[in-house]
Amino acid sequence: MLTGPGVARYGGAFMGRTRFALLCLLVLDMTTTSAHAKDRQDIQARYKWNLADLYPSEADWTKAKQDLGRRIPELAKFRGHLGKSAQSLLAALQVMFELDHQLSRLSVYANSLSDEDVRAARPREMKQSAEELATQFSSASSWVRPEILALDPAKVRKFVADEKKLAPYRVYLEETLRRKPHTLGAAEERVAAEAGDLEHAGSEIHGVLSNADLPYPLVKLSTGESVRLDAAAYSLHRQDRNRADRDRVFSAFFGGLKTYERTMGATLAAAVKSHLFEMRVRHFDSTLQAALFQDNIPPVVYKQLLADVHRSLPALHRYLALRKRMLGLDVLRYQDLYVPLVASVDMRFEPDEARAITLDALAPLGKEYTDALHAGFESGWTDYLPSTGKRSGAYSTGVYGVHPYQLLNFNGRYDDLSTLAHESGHSMHTFLSYAAQPYPTADYPIFVAEVASTFNENLLIHYMLDRTKDDASRLFLLGTLLDGLRTTLFRQTQFAEFELAFHEQAERGEPLTGENLSASYLKIAREYYGHDKHVCEVDDLLAIEWAYVPHFYYDFYVYQYATSMVASTSLARAVRQEAQTSDPARGRPRRDAYLNMLRSGSSKYAMDLLKEAGVDMTTSAPFDEAIAEMNATMDEMERILDRQAKPTLSAPKR
Ligand SMILES: [Zn+2]
Repeated sequence: MLTGPGVARYGGAFMGRTRFALLCLLVLDMTTTSAHAKDRQDIQARYKWNLADLYPSEADWTKAKQDLGRRIPELAKFRGHLGKSAQSLLAALQVMFELDHQLSRLSVYANSLSDEDVRAARPREMKQSAEELATQFSSASSWVRPEILALDPAKVRKFVADEKKLAPYRVYLEETLRRKPHTLGAAEERVAAEAGDLEHAGSEIHGVLSNADLPYPLVKLSTGESVRLDAAAYSLHRQDRNRADRDRVFSAFFGGLKTYERTMGATLAAAVKSHLFEMRVRHFDSTLQAALFQDNIPPVVYKQLLADVHRSLPALHRYLALRKRMLGLDVLRYQDLYVPLVASVDMRFEPDEARAITLDALAPLGKEYTDALHAGFESGWTDYLPSTGKRSGAYSTGVYGVHPYQLLNFNGRYDDLSTLAHESGHSMHTFLSYAAQPYPTADYPIFVAEVASTFNENLLIHYMLDRTKDDASRLFLLGTLLDGLRTTLFRQTQFAEFELAFHEQAERGEPLTGENLSASYLKIAREYYGHDKHVCEVDDLLAIEWAYVPHFYYDFYVYQYATSMVASTSLARAVRQEAQTSDPARGRPRRDAYLNMLRSGSSKYAMDLLKEAGVDMTTSAPFDEAIAEMNATMDEMERILDRQAKPTLSAPKR
């Protein structure tokens, strides 16, 4: 699960891994398993990951699990002794991080095995028992941070200075001390921990309602097909080429949600109340500050993003005008935003071809990077192909001291190629960080995780563009690049703006209701899409869209999609330019700085990591570069369309 405020956020280092694996899924869960999936046993070994690198057999896993279960209680003997000497602090941290490491190994094995076939019972049981062990560990280590916090910070720092072996734990200790102003006395912490159990109530009720209980409407499409419009079917059918079908789908889906507006308002209000509780009891000035404190991100970064996007709305409006032109519409409406800009161009890739293209496209990162990735491709990092029962989507994970693992459902489309580049970005980040960092700083912050992956997507699409001459294929690639920038920079920031608005409303003591959440959502959406300027009509019914977005329960999370894209666009552009113009005498300082960031894991704060790589996220400069890329993409698309001199490219009008 994603962690919210409260106890979970103050939990062990293990949380970082769990949060990261999920982040990637959120972005890429749209890939569906092919209906013609093979049986796993019919797939060649070279297209499967090798879980034997974790444990030679299931029996070894079971033995390791039993050993770990016996060792967890060992932690208790250090309780009350952390402040005695540098050596006793060191001994406790060594045991805690070693247990954490073994636990991540057990979990990754069980989760991965289960993902090979989600129907299989035994791996599910293994997964469950790894989760139980994680809870046991989390509870057995829950006293460590409070005990460190009760020590004099000067004493802790002196321990680190005196005992060289504490160096790998310095970041963990400093991170713990940084929380001191927001940590309460023992009795209050107990109350806060109890209250923490209530924090997911809103999100859980929303989840049950939207995933199981909502009576989703049935619609009949022009093809004669009847569809039950749940969230997944809505996101599929909003892309339909037939405009009347899109209208039906829009009205039915949002009309259905609208009847639950009051309930949905109450579930979101419950989540916001837990954020307010956290803010008040831990002495933060705002819910935004409380949420961003976890990764030490200054709230100015968030506000800056909103201001930058507002300033750049003309680029979004230009995009909307281009979309209207390409679809050949007289009036563009919100319902027209998800039809693919270019009817799919027949670009197909074999898995081996996709590997070769990815390696070639990433050449600007240097031979060391591509050699390591190539070796990874050849040695069981990746589970490539869809098979019956396999988990859908794509993600990357890894185990320290072993190697990264990535799950794909490669179906041969451009999207699948791009996903390979994306997940390989995460995996190489993991690989480089694991190689350079000790275990306690080997996991990287979420704020930079999606930089490494989207950076590779950017290199890939420019590589493809450099080698694609025909107009139709260029339009397809440019449209893909453009839609990525539009949905990430603008849509995620639109979400972030709404999220800030309703939190501020609650901070002012105003009630949150379904009705006023809808009013606020519609106002922001209309401003973004230029409704009053007749750029794009936004129907009144869109007001309820917030009710189907689960991310509003994640406590100021979505803005990171936009900031990651901004950072990676700026970094990738610098590295590409350097590779093209490089004079051997000058070397590749931008590439080296970027690789250095990947190697740094979480040894520094996210803001500092990015700054050292060459992007200062407290300024507008990187954002402006991303908008420049968006405008350059539209320049070329318009040139192609002018040359073709036919405004209707591929889609029928109605
Ligand atoms: Zn990702």
